[in-house]
Amino acid sequence: MPTTIPPLGLLLDVDGPIASPVSRSIAIPSIIDDLVTLCGLGVPIAFVTGRSESFIREHVVGPLIDAGLGPVLAGGGRMFGVCEKGGVWFPITEQGVGTVEIDHALALPQDYTEAIRQLVHSSFAETMEFDGTKYAMISVEQRTDVEHEAFVRAQPSFAAAAFDLLVDHGLGARFNDRVVADSDGHVPFRIDPTIISIDVESVLLDKDRGAERALGYFLGHGPVPTLWRTVGDSRSDYLMADFLHDAGYEVAHVDVRPSDGVLQKPYPVVVPDDLIHDHAGAWFLRQWVAKLTESG
Ligand SMILES: [Mg+2]
Repeated sequence: MPTTIPPLGLLLDVDGPIASPVSRSIAIPSIIDDLVTLCGLGVPIAFVTGRSESFIREHVVGPLIDAGLGPVLAGGGRMFGVCEKGGVWFPITEQGVGTVEIDHALALPQDYTEAIRQLVHSSFAETMEFDGTKYAMISVEQRTDVEHEAFVRAQPSFAAAAFDLLVDHGLGARFNDRVVADSDGHVPFRIDPTIISIDVESVLLDKDRGAERALGYFLGHGPVPTLWRTVGDSRSDYLMADFLHDAGYEVAHVDVRPSDGVLQKPYPVVVPDDLIHDHAGAWFLRQWVAKLTESG
């Protein structure tokens, strides 16, 4: 366990700043190397993503272990994974993904999940596929062999059908301006269309919940830095910085896809010059490696 206060902590969205939105894997080798280096410099690093544990295991943790993360973690480095927007979490250990924990209280009922799986199979299989690796939320994704435009055309009718199925199952839900409460008057679920998926999830799952989970882990495993950076490509990623700011930490958020609109916040928002997506993520990590190795 580290005993000195780290110079920096990182909460990183995966799709966008780390993994290429096109290949859905880490396409820039320096990102892997710099994450290992920063971890070795004592920087606690958490991945806070909507992705599943199996995706992070294969596309993030595996390459990091191959690049020498194991000995760095054995020497006191700290790394953590929060998946499904806070519904699933695990420490990253010398062996890879550690014990996986699931927030079962927030998960969709099994019969609804099965109904969605069948709906995709029967009516939307040409453009979408059901992500069978999720535990707490449902994601139906664009097939990688299908043009994005074809997925975008089918997305609204699938989202509407998924909403209708929630209502049919007696589950309170919201989708855009449509809100239907359950028999207790509650609205526990929502439909969230993203660039490459339609998610059905608890309204309590979001990036601030993921940030809280990650910080809680780091606080239990040694000193925690006062200085933090959060990085993401969606507006919801700002919630990680919102949480740290509200908790009294010094934070800036790095927005690697500012075309969505940069939000006004009580903390600094960094927009990299001329670089977006994982190219901006790679620049960000390289800059911090340089900064911390110069001063160290
Ligand atoms: Mg993202």
